[in-house]
Amino acid sequence: MKISKYLCVLLCTTSLFNMSCSKKSVAPQSKIGLLGTVCSINAYDDGSEKLYTAIFNRLEEIDDDFNVNKSQSEISLINSNAGIAPVKVSEDVYYVVKTALQFSGLTKGAFDPTIGPVVALWGINTDHARIPEKNEIEQALRFVDYTKVILDDKGQTVYLTEKGMSIDLGGIAKGYACDEVVKILKHNKVKRAVVDLGGNVYVWGTKKDGSRWKVGVRNPESNAADPALALSLYNSTVVTSGVYERYFIQDGIRFHHIINPEDGYPCQNDLLSLTVVCESSIIADALSTSLFLLGQDKGFEFVEKLSQTNEFDFVPDVIYISKEHEVVASSNLRNSLTAVNENYKKISFR
Ligand code: AMP
Ligand code: MG
Repeated sequence: MKISKYLCVLLCTTSLFNMSCSKKSVAPQSKIGLLGTVCSINAYDDGSEKLYTAIFNRLEEIDDDFNVNKSQSEISLINSNAGIAPVKVSEDVYYVVKTALQFSGLTKGAFDPTIGPVVALWGINTDHARIPEKNEIEQALRFVDYTKVILDDKGQTVYLTEKGMSIDLGGIAKGYACDEVVKILKHNKVKRAVVDLGGNVYVWGTKKDGSRWKVGVRNPESNAADPALALSLYNSTVVTSGVYERYFIQDGIRFHHIINPEDGYPCQNDLLSLTVVCESSIIADALSTSLFLLGQDKGFEFVEKLSQTNEFDFVPDVIYISKEHEVVASSNLRNSLTAVNENYKKISFR
């Protein structure tokens, strides 16, 4: 990927306010290219070379396991062994695949990590992005079926049962990586930090004066330097799925990267973006992609059901931004969500 794209990603991620560090600590660090994005960490007064090295080593490790562009990554090995043999994988990959499949079940296949062949066909964000022929999409869709992923807890193996299948964890892996960074922060007793993995944000602790961090939710029709909304939070992750993240425009139509497994086309609904706020970034990541796919009404029902069935031990909050610039958010965010752009001041809570 070209540097310019990464810089663009950096500018386009959820914006963070109040970034600073004390004179004694090491400057906050960023790396371009990890997890296909820009990863930035600021541990403020607790930032040290040792801490940042540990964090970026861990992110490198995750990238080595998950990157489909690395031929020896575990995901590549799972894919190249489709229809041939189960592949023994690391705890990281096993856990993320298992969580992804949990979301496939919960969303009845709207979130489907076996979307790989269709994602590859569209090539969105590559130099070969194009609108595929209908018959090509039909062909690729034959390989999309999360029920054909066989997991073996004991052997820690993943098996795609048909040749031609491939998994794509782009909708969930950054969330996992974000949680892993927070684990390192906790382990090192870091008091406060801001983690930004290309828009998967985690604000750890509070600001030095005990107040909450301000996290911007990007104006989906502009860049990240121009947030539409601001959230005041502590110990929370903020993850957004949107039509602006990866896309191309042809004949005035935007073709973005979140694919509806029912028809193999970018998901069409009235949403520009969908944001999840909670304490687990892997859940927020899988959920933001899932809820984008489900659309607003089914999405709210889905979140309600999750809380009623105690699927997770916390209740995620959500923010929908529609093409008409209407903002609908969970009532729990009533005291922490404000509009910072005139076009998005119509906020309702439910
Ligand atoms: P996110 O930005 O987290 O919403 O994830 C979008 C990414 O998830 C895409 O770039 C694909 O890699 C992957 N993806 C696309 N469609 C789906 C789908 N229906 N289910 C699961 N992952 C998907
Ligand atoms: Mg996601």
